[in-house]
Amino acid sequence: MKKVIYPGSFDPVTNGHIDVIKRARELFDSVVVTVAINPVKEPVFTVEERVAMLKESLKEFENVEVDSFDGLVVDHAKEVGAIGIIRGLRAVSDFEFEFQMALMNRKLSTDITTIFLMPHEKYTYLNSTIIRNLASLHSDVSDFVPPVVQEELKKKFKY
Ligand code: ADP
Repeated sequence: MKKVIYPGSFDPVTNGHIDVIKRARELFDSVVVTVAINPVKEPVFTVEERVAMLKESLKEFENVEVDSFDGLVVDHAKEVGAIGIIRGLRAVSDFEFEFQMALMNRKLSTDITTIFLMPHEKYTYLNSTIIRNLASLHSDVSDFVPPVVQEELKKKFKY
């Protein structure tokens, strides 16, 4: 059984993330989408809220699970029995950071491989920061996020 993990902040999950998850679930037997608890970042949504939005958005996919973790990605990958780490590549600008992380993770654990997937080009300009900014200005973000995220953004930013 080939299992992979897809770590990220998912603050909140966007249609770009969902696109990557759909590609990963076609390639592997199972995908664990995992919300990374990063003490440095100040998220808009709590870990529990992010996990709940992911679960709701991914409920139709039987081979996709959602969890959260605190610590090293490679350690969590081993804990859940994953053989690889999925990351999304949107543009050349993602490359340097992702390349460094992938090599560092390989140094930390030689048996966990990082796999990069590219979303449909319509999602290449999409990130969670833009979504949070648009929502804070009470903009309609329904084209970019799952319905549950749109609802939660409206509650959070009171519009
Ligand atoms: P971001 O705040 O950039 O959306 P995350 O930490 O939530 O970041 O992202 C987790 C992973 O998903 C990263 O590998 C990131 O490059 C990737 N990702 C984020 N947005 C997209 C998108 N629109 N298309 C493809 N991959 C994406």
